[in-house]
Amino acid sequence: MAERWDLVIIGGGPAGLTAAVYGARYRLSTLVIAQGGPGGQAATTEEIENYPGAGRTTGSKLMSEFRDHAESLGARLVCGEVCAVDLEGPIKTIRTKKGEVYEARAVILCPGAEPRRLGVKGEGRLHGRGVSYCATSDVDICTGRDAVVVGNSDTAVEEAIYLARFARKVTLICIHPEGIMDANKASQERLFATPNIEVVWQTVVEEIQGDGRVERVMLRHLGTGERSELPADGIFIFVGTTPRTDFLRGAGIDLDGRGYIIADPDTMETSLPGVFAAGDARRKWLRQIVTAAADGAIAASAAAKFLAEEEQVHREILSPEEPVLVVFWSPLNQLSLHVLQEAEKIVARLGGQVRLARIDCYKSSRTATRLGIFDVPAVQIFHRGIPLATLTEDFNHLEDWVTGHMPVKA
Ligand SMILES: Cc1cc2nc3c(=O)[nH]c(=O)nc-3n(C[C@H](O)[C@H](O)[C@H](O)COP(=O)(O)OP(=O)(O)OC[C@H]3O[C@@H](n4cnc5c(N)ncnc54)[C@H](O)[C@@H]3O)c2cc1C
Repeated sequence: MAERWDLVIIGGGPAGLTAAVYGARYRLSTLVIAQGGPGGQAATTEEIENYPGAGRTTGSKLMSEFRDHAESLGARLVCGEVCAVDLEGPIKTIRTKKGEVYEARAVILCPGAEPRRLGVKGEGRLHGRGVSYCATSDVDICTGRDAVVVGNSDTAVEEAIYLARFARKVTLICIHPEGIMDANKASQERLFATPNIEVVWQTVVEEIQGDGRVERVMLRHLGTGERSELPADGIFIFVGTTPRTDFLRGAGIDLDGRGYIIADPDTMETSLPGVFAAGDARRKWLRQIVTAAADGAIAASAAAKFLAEEEQVHREILSPEEPVLVVFWSPLNQLSLHVLQEAEKIVARLGGQVRLARIDCYKSSRTATRLGIFDVPAVQIFHRGIPLATLTEDFNHLEDWVTGHMPVKA
């Protein structure tokens, strides 16, 4: 039998672990499924100096603090690779490669991203033999030797500075003309101040060569077309990322052309109700730890609100045996306050014949939209989960309208 959770979070990087902190604080039973254990990409870097309040720290330290925080609040973390999901119904099903099956009332997708390959000859053959996408794991490749770093983003520049502490020389290959880099200025200043780093401008890698191990990198200058050869013991590639969303293909989640999840920027909700997305796997502008954490916080609070609203709709509107008079009101709309007051009097006069349900559309516009209401005030009568009538204007004869639309007693 599948374990059922309020909230299942797929991915245990900064986005997933922050979502777990928030989910647990909302008192949702919260499970994080993380392939390879928690930490994500952030745990693979030695140098983090832009997470507010953490000063200069290492990725593994910061991520173990995220993990401890989530667990201390009651979230459960398990290792596993999610390979299949059924996210369309009210109860979502999540399956891992090892065969575990979990059910959830809400899901947050935080599978992050993985390094993009350069796509040049020799890269695949020499991966793990001097070709690397992670400086922390593979620093040994170039300790006391020569390394090439490809890329010019924050990550590329920070990792080049880290590698320069161990390598004899680091050559950074930048695709842009001299003086232009995508990395932030502070990181660029540190790069240029590091004596054993040289930048080769306006140049791309065409091929990685070596007999069983990386021995040299073939370069081409984009301005002159001139080709050259650079001896190297290791090549570290940081040319962006691709989202790890393959397991979502065909699951009804809208993805963009590059596979990033499209989610509402205000609530992180995806194209499927009750399914949210956070972090690097989401289509967004800035992919960093702080933005992944922010997404995770928003997604978990939106998931908690979604679940609370779903419960309210089922408990107060869809489940009761008696007819239900639903008033859609807002504290900002005077007429709706008047309609609500009238509805309360009518329900009191009708005794136990009808129940009253109040939907505050200022707080819960999603619930109203879900029930087909786009403006306040509005009034609906439901019976056994079915809407019998809707009133959106002329509330002067509300009592007559209510009694006129009550279900006929069998
Ligand atoms: C080398 C490097 C250095 C960086 N340096 C910095 C820095 O200094 N400052 C900064 O702010 N940012 C930095 N970043 C970026 C930062 O790490 C990311 O923006 C951040 O980790 C994104 O978090 P995330 O939770 O969205 O995804 P990720 O960190 O990618 O985590 C995703 C998690 O989901 C898991 N997962 C994926 N698919 C599945 C699946 N099918 N089933 C189960 N689990 C799955 C993964 O195993 C992983 O645990 C760096 C990145 C790299 C690679």
